Amino acid sequence: MHEVLIIGGGPAGLTAAMYCRMRSMSVLVLDAGRSGGQLVSLYGEKPVHDWPGYHRIIANELASQIAQHARQLEVEIVESRKVDDVQRLGAEGFEVLAHDVVTGEKHRHGATALIIAIGGGAFEPRKLRVDGEEGLSEDTLTYRMPERSRSAGRRVVVVGGGDSGLESAQAARDAGAEVTMIQVLDRFTGMQSNIDEVNRMGIPCHLNTRVKAIESENGAIRAVIAQTKGAPEPLRVECDYLVVNIGAAVNLDAVKRWGIETRGNQIVVDPQMRTSVEGIFACGDIVTYEGKYKLLITASSEGAMAANAAYMWVRKPARMTMGDLYS
Ligand SMILES: Cc1cc2nc3c(=O)[nH]c(=O)nc-3n(C[C@H](O)[C@H](O)[C@H](O)COP(=O)(O)OP(=O)(O)OC[C@H]3O[C@@H](n4cnc5c(N)ncnc54)[C@H](O)[C@@H]3O)c2cc1C
Repeated sequence: MHEVLIIGGGPAGLTAAMYCRMRSMSVLVLDAGRSGGQLVSLYGEKPVHDWPGYHRIIANELASQIAQHARQLEVEIVESRKVDDVQRLGAEGFEVLAHDVVTGEKHRHGATALIIAIGGGAFEPRKLRVDGEEGLSEDTLTYRMPERSRSAGRRVVVVGGGDSGLESAQAARDAGAEVTMIQVLDRFTGMQSNIDEVNRMGIPCHLNTRVKAIESENGAIRAVIAQTKGAPEPLRVECDYLVVNIGAAVNLDAVKRWGIETRGNQIVVDPQMRTSVEGIFACGDIVTYEGKYKLLITASSEGAMAANAAYMWVRKPARMTMGDLYS
């Protein structure tokens, strides 16, 4: 039985775990994939420019430094372990039911308090749902950012005009690819700085255009077939490497089953990161409150707050002091 169990080992969950350890609590982090969250799962090769102390750091490197820092504080992290359900154990706390995503083996873990830090969920990227999409290898189709080595010298088509798509297009071009973008809306929806950069690079984009099918031969993509609104004929864009960045489908059914209040696809928290269920806290991209930003730094900050709130719940000190954190 741990004092705190954290579901999700992204920036929010790992920071929460570090603060729990700094308050000498026993803590276990379970992650469905690799610790580091989106930093490793979605954009490992991208430079991050807004983490204090680094003008520029590659996402994979930042993730490994955060995980290493947590391990130095003796945080126990179990990877490839997806949490499926949570049950209350009377007044004592909670039992978490999880499974190993590689072996399928089931596990049970007890904890006095829970912190939910599942970010965008266990990364179930939204698919195009068109003919030819299934059965293609990572070398030819990805729902993450494109890998440099797979982009160089190839014809890359990026579907999606939000920040992920805009950053993928830039990364592929930087790696030496011939890039074309396809966006279903009549405009890009990402940050202006990303839009400006894509325009500066002169990357062509078909707006108002929806992908209809993928043409492939022996597991290799040949072309993307798309339809532009109002155009008489479908469009055929030759392609070797297809990058689909059209968001992730978040499934909060399990969280709702646990009795936690949600709004849209997020968990509602108060300013101390408490959910509607006593003893369960939440932080990072999965939470909502007025003025919420989905950023690394806010995820970490909320992780620290969730850990402090969990400490109050578990240890019930007469008052909260910060002094012991710095000792
Ligand atoms: C392309 C892209 C670029 C970005 N660039 C920047 C940037 O430059 N600067 C910036 O500040 N922010 C950036 N962000 C946003 C930033 O990455 C997120 O705000 C941050 O990762 C949120 O951290 P988190 O810990 O809440 O969630 P996540 O990073 O999503 O981590 C959640 C973790 O929970 C795990 N998990 C989910 N469900 C379960 C389950 N059932 N059981 C166990 N584990 C589970 C997942 O495997 C994952 O590891 C970017 C995002 C994207 C998509």
